[in-house]
Amino acid sequence: MQYDFFRGEPEEEGDFKVCYACEVSLPKSKFRVLVRRHGNRHTLSSTCGACDDLAEVIKKEFRRNNKIPEDYACPLCKKTHLNYKNSGRYWTQSPFSVDHCQKTRVVRGWICNPCNSAMGLAQHNPDLLKKMANYLERK
Ligand SMILES: [Zn+2]
Ligand SMILES: [Zn+2]
Repeated sequence: MQYDFFRGEPEEEGDFKVCYACEVSLPKSKFRVLVRRHGNRHTLSSTCGACDDLAEVIKKEFRRNNKIPEDYACPLCKKTHLNYKNSGRYWTQSPFSVDHCQKTRVVRGWICNPCNSAMGLAQHNPDLLKKMANYLERK
């Protein structure tokens, strides 16, 4: 994924954010902008630029040493390249990404982008994900 770099913004006093990975409080300018909106309402990455760079290095290394098989199925939803291709999603782009733990920097493996996004939105919090499953199963 290609992130936007956001530089040269004047720093406001007390405008800090804690990085989810290294847990250091840093000026917001040290975080990349993930979603740029009108005005000044941007969504920043949950991890600082330095942690993002390190994550990229770790993922690149994993990709180089662990080529994804053509018939690979997501360990969570079991969808394959072909399933995604047939659905029209990820027609030209790979549906799989390297998933890693931002805290321990350990690579968990290849998972599909929708599963990865879902876990990301749930802050990779197993308790919250369990609650979501229970919520969905509620009659
Ligand atoms: Zn960090
Ligand atoms: Zn999946």
